[in-house]
Amino acid sequence: MPLPSFRSSRSKVRRRRSHHALKAVSTMQCASCGATLLPHRACKNCGKYGDRSVKKTGMEEVKKVLKKTTKAEKPAKEGKGPKAQKVTDEKQA
Ligand SMILES: [Zn+2]
Repeated sequence: MPLPSFRSSRSKVRRRRSHHALKAVSTMQCASCGATLLPHRACKNCGKYGDRSVKKTGMEEVKKVLKKTTKAEKPAKEGKGPKAQKVTDEKQA
Protein backbone atom coordinates (compact mmCIF):
# COMPACT_ATOMS: atom_id res chain seq x y z
CA MET A 1 0.00 0.00 0.00
CA PRO A 2 1.44 3.43 -0.98
CA LEU A 3 2.40 5.86 1.72
CA PRO A 4 2.75 9.66 1.62
CA SER A 5 6.31 10.75 0.80
CA PHE A 6 6.59 13.12 3.71
CA ARG A 7 5.12 13.31 7.16
CA SER A 8 2.55 16.14 7.66
CA SER A 9 3.79 18.66 10.20
CA ARG A 10 1.80 19.37 13.36
CA SER A 11 1.01 22.83 11.97
CA LYS A 12 -0.27 21.46 8.66
CA VAL A 13 -2.51 18.87 10.41
CA ARG A 14 -3.92 21.51 12.77
CA ARG A 15 -4.60 23.95 9.92
CA ARG A 16 -6.49 21.21 8.03
CA ARG A 17 -8.52 20.27 11.11
CA SER A 18 -9.41 23.89 11.90
CA HIS A 19 -12.43 23.47 9.55
CA HIS A 20 -13.70 20.19 11.04
CA ALA A 21 -15.67 21.64 13.96
CA LEU A 22 -19.44 20.97 13.99
CA LYS A 23 -21.96 23.80 14.14
CA ALA A 24 -25.11 23.73 16.25
CA VAL A 25 -28.33 23.21 14.25
CA SER A 26 -30.50 26.34 14.23
CA THR A 27 -34.16 25.77 15.14
CA MET A 28 -37.29 27.92 15.39
CA GLN A 29 -40.74 27.74 17.00
CA CYS A 30 -43.90 27.07 14.97
CA ALA A 31 -46.05 30.22 14.89
CA SER A 32 -49.36 28.37 15.30
CA CYS A 33 -48.60 25.38 17.60
CA GLY A 34 -45.21 26.27 19.13
CA ALA A 35 -43.43 23.05 18.16
CA THR A 36 -39.67 23.17 17.51
CA LEU A 37 -38.80 22.87 13.82
CA LEU A 38 -36.04 23.52 11.31
CA PRO A 39 -36.26 26.86 9.45
CA HIS A 40 -37.80 26.87 5.92
CA ARG A 41 -39.70 23.63 6.55
CA ALA A 42 -43.36 22.81 7.13
CA CYS A 43 -44.35 21.96 10.72
CA LYS A 44 -44.63 18.19 11.28
CA ASN A 45 -47.08 18.72 14.15
CA CYS A 46 -49.74 20.94 12.54
CA GLY A 47 -48.73 20.87 8.83
CA LYS A 48 -48.38 24.63 8.43
CA TYR A 49 -45.69 26.64 6.66
CA GLY A 50 -45.90 30.21 7.91
CA ASP A 51 -49.65 30.93 7.93
CA ARG A 52 -50.50 28.53 5.07
CA SER A 53 -51.65 24.93 5.58
CA VAL A 54 -49.55 22.73 3.28
CA LYS A 55 -50.20 19.25 4.69
CA LYS A 56 -53.51 17.44 5.05
CA THR A 57 -54.02 16.30 8.62
CA GLY A 58 -56.68 14.53 10.70
CA MET A 59 -60.17 14.34 9.12
CA GLU A 60 -59.06 15.44 5.64
CA GLU A 61 -56.80 12.36 5.39
CA VAL A 62 -59.56 10.04 6.71
CA LYS A 63 -62.04 11.40 4.15
CA LYS A 64 -59.52 10.83 1.35
CA VAL A 65 -59.02 7.16 2.39
CA LEU A 66 -62.78 6.56 2.68
CA LYS A 67 -63.37 8.02 -0.78
CA LYS A 68 -60.77 5.66 -2.26
CA THR A 69 -62.21 2.52 -0.61
CA THR A 70 -65.83 3.28 -1.58
CA LYS A 71 -64.77 3.88 -5.18
CA ALA A 72 -63.08 0.45 -5.36
CA GLU A 73 -66.14 -1.39 -3.97
CA LYS A 74 -68.51 -0.08 -6.66
CA PRO A 75 -69.42 -2.69 -9.33
CA ALA A 76 -68.15 -2.18 -12.88
CA LYS A 77 -70.57 -0.64 -15.38
CA GLU A 78 -72.32 -3.08 -17.70
CA GLY A 79 -71.28 -3.12 -21.32
CA LYS A 80 -67.72 -1.98 -20.58
CA GLY A 81 -64.62 -4.11 -20.05
CA PRO A 82 -63.79 -7.69 -21.07
CA LYS A 83 -65.80 -9.39 -18.25
CA ALA A 84 -69.09 -7.74 -19.22
CA GLN A 85 -68.62 -8.73 -22.88
CA LYS A 86 -67.94 -12.35 -21.92
CA VAL A 87 -71.22 -12.58 -19.98
CA THR A 88 -73.25 -11.24 -22.91
CA ASP A 89 -71.52 -13.69 -25.32
CA GLU A 90 -72.48 -16.66 -23.11
CA LYS A 91 -76.13 -15.52 -23.01
CA GLN A 92 -76.30 -15.34 -26.81
CA ALA A 93 -74.86 -18.84 -27.30
ZN1 LIG B 1 -47.01 23.75 14.05
